[in-house]
Amino acid sequence: MKTNGEDYYDILEVDEDASKDEIKKAYRKKAKKYHPDKNPDNTDEAREKFKKISEAYEVLADDEKRKRYDKYGKRGVEQEFGNGGFDWSDFSHRNDVEDVFSDLFGGRRGGGDFEDLFSSFFGGRRRSGRKRKRRGNDLKMSFEVNLKDIKEGTEKTVKLNRKARCEECGGSGSKTGDKKTCPKCGGTGKVKKAQRRGFQQLVTVSQCDQCDGTGHIVEDPCPRCKGKGRVEKRETITIDVPAGARDGAKLRVEGKGEAGPHGTPPGDLYIVLRIRSQEGFERQGDDVITETTVSMTEAALGAEINVPTLENEVQIRVPQGTQPGDILRLPNKGLKRQGRSGYGDQLVKVGVEMPDDLNDRQESLLEEFEEIEKEKNKSFFDRIRGK
Ligand SMILES: [Zn+2]
Ligand SMILES: [Zn+2]
Repeated sequence: MKTNGEDYYDILEVDEDASKDEIKKAYRKKAKKYHPDKNPDNTDEAREKFKKISEAYEVLADDEKRKRYDKYGKRGVEQEFGNGGFDWSDFSHRNDVEDVFSDLFGGRRGGGDFEDLFSSFFGGRRRSGRKRKRRGNDLKMSFEVNLKDIKEGTEKTVKLNRKARCEECGGSGSKTGDKKTCPKCGGTGKVKKAQRRGFQQLVTVSQCDQCDGTGHIVEDPCPRCKGKGRVEKRETITIDVPAGARDGAKLRVEGKGEAGPHGTPPGDLYIVLRIRSQEGFERQGDDVITETTVSMTEAALGAEINVPTLENEVQIRVPQGTQPGDILRLPNKGLKRQGRSGYGDQLVKVGVEMPDDLNDRQESLLEEFEEIEKEKNKSFFDRIRGK
């Protein structure tokens, strides 16, 4: 089962029975072709292509994944990758990329070159990785609402503790605003680490842990936040609970995550709505289902009864001859429809209760009732028999 021209074998231009060696060769050939440095006019496109061939290689170079792919197509391997599909973090063949580098650029070169090559290859990932560090963490919390809250949608206040920017120092962490260059990284915010791998030297660059990548350190810490630039704060946030919200719906509140380190922007707050079940009410899409019980005679003769809705209590008519399990529909008493106008309905399921403490008079009346029923049925059968 192969998908629209995105077939991994097509991407690497190999046969479906290609050997591992052939696949590796094909990958390296393509990797050289799509190296961003070799495509200075369209590096973005080259990078995309490089990512694509790497995804194909990730799957086809692995017997287990390849087997699943052959059998089920992309569906068989998609769980290997994160939500956004294949990402460099999913790529487990870095050694092969390094081989490509050394083939291309003469192998044992100074660490600096290697580092540049690596960042040009994994540019996208590194950039976004840094971006995440330069703002505060997102926060996630769940919040319970009930069916009544989502009938029309409503405003709710949510209380939470979060790391907020220190007002005293504006988040810088410094009492006077003075900054000193970080001695560990010399102000670059980055530290290099060299690793030998066989004949090659691989230099990785990571964020300086002494200054959190800012390049400077605080020597006169703000007394309020002790140099951290952030303080724990109890906050009340107002959220709009949408009408007809589904259980597990996620609301994003921009900028209400943790404040970033050293005065950098805050992350976002995600509120996961949990719809609390409400005694006696069951939800079915936009409709709500309730149950009610009437007596045998009410069911037989019809009656006016009161039933609770999400908002109040209403009087409804139980029609004559209602059967146990019959459903009475109360239009527009359900939840406001999402993305459409109007409301769902309330469905009232009717149960019928049989009397279990008849007195003599009731018993004889019922016996009489029974006699008449028999007569009726008899004459009914007589009628159909044509007598
Ligand atoms: Zn530093
Ligand atoms: Zn402070």
